[in-house]
Amino acid sequence: MQSRRIFTGPPIVYHEAYSAPQLPAGHRFPMGVFRRIYETLLEDGLITQEQVHVPSKLPCKDTLQLVHTAEYVDSFTQGVLDEARMKRIGFGEVSRSPVLIERTLSEIAGTLLTARLALQHGLACNTAGGTHHAFPAAGSGFCILNDLAITAAVLLHEGAVQRVLILDLDVHQGDGTAFIFKGEPRVFTMSIHGEGNFPARKQRSDLDVPLPDGTADDDYLRVLGEMLPPVVSCFQPDLVLYDAGVDTHKDDSLGKLALTDDGLLRRELQVLDTCLAAGTPVAGYVGGGYSPDLDVLARRHTLLHKAAAQMWDSYELGSKNAV
Ligand SMILES: [Zn+2]
Repeated sequence: MQSRRIFTGPPIVYHEAYSAPQLPAGHRFPMGVFRRIYETLLEDGLITQEQVHVPSKLPCKDTLQLVHTAEYVDSFTQGVLDEARMKRIGFGEVSRSPVLIERTLSEIAGTLLTARLALQHGLACNTAGGTHHAFPAAGSGFCILNDLAITAAVLLHEGAVQRVLILDLDVHQGDGTAFIFKGEPRVFTMSIHGEGNFPARKQRSDLDVPLPDGTADDDYLRVLGEMLPPVVSCFQPDLVLYDAGVDTHKDDSLGKLALTDDGLLRRELQVLDTCLAAGTPVAGYVGGGYSPDLDVLARRHTLLHKAAAQMWDSYELGSKNAV
């Protein structure tokens, strides 16, 4: 029987709740960018509607409690978070709003769905995700619940995977993720980040690679090329959860590194190629990125999806998934 392709590119996950909350004017967190990423992907022809998946089921309390404390989950989901923890998250009173609660749960649902699609198809990308500063009993730095950690915990709990690599290339260290999985041998946490960036107090990942301020394309990509392949070949993960934060860009409002658009695209291609060449499925998440110009920022984030489309073709994942 002649096979046919079921997708022209990798599965892409989006939910309209991602950009639904309204933050005060001038707030540094670009809440609107996730919708712009989705729209830009369609406008630029990087994806077609048939690739889009929408998470339909929000995570239940038991799922969240695989990583977070019952008290924290209850406080947040019931909209009664205390002032101190709201302040540490950085969204002010909005943290208690139903629309932000739904947004947070939708993002976790999307991150988990992306991982499941990656396991099924070899590669999938979310249009949000990467809340890596969230700890078991508190959020931090615009992160409330840790979607990457919850996703890894769920898949391990189900037995869908035996080993997960969480590769965090956001400019900020994945401190919450590192803390959550310290002493968990089935999860390898790897963070390449700006040593001069938030958080001031770093946690210990399984592999931390702090880079000096101003690190640019060639040095960055050389370090990545030295560090990632041995982790993939030695740890042999069943799945890579990849936080592709673009706050490593030279024009980012918060990051202190100096990657160009070309450097970012090369980074995404390098990561995906390294993992896919080893036969390891990859789920990509957009991570952080900061700019008052949401169009510029959205296009920067879509470099991940552009690289994914290229790798989807290179590895003929569409044909492999044909029915
Ligand atoms: Zn960041």
